[in-house]
Amino acid sequence: MIRRFKLVRHADVSGVSGTGHVADGVIWPDGTATVRWRGDHPSTVSWDGGQASVEHVHGHGGATEIVWFDPEPSRSEAADQLGVCDVAVWDGPYRMNCGYVLTNGRCPSHGQQVPRGRL
Ligand SMILES: [Zn+2]
Repeated sequence: MIRRFKLVRHADVSGVSGTGHVADGVIWPDGTATVRWRGDHPSTVSWDGGQASVEHVHGHGGATEIVWFDPEPSRSEAADQLGVCDVAVWDGPYRMNCGYVLTNGRCPSHGQQVPRGRL
């Protein structure tokens, strides 16, 4: 899903951008973000880093607040409830977790397990 937000600036540290509702943005389904700045000289900025980049660049110190219009995706909530596969898998030298969202406590690759948080 696409998550819409606006950026509300409470303090104008740089003295050039003003305060209040300064930008509108979206987080795209692939996790990247696009922000459209308002004002006399509007511009559009995209970040491959998505929400983390928006928060890092503009939420720092609490001067700028991200106000969401859409709720967080339910996939992460579902994953918390159902658990994800914890089995370690190796991608070359990198250890990762399988991460498959369990269906009835079951991963198709690694079988039945006890979901995290229910041990
Ligand atoms: Zn698995």
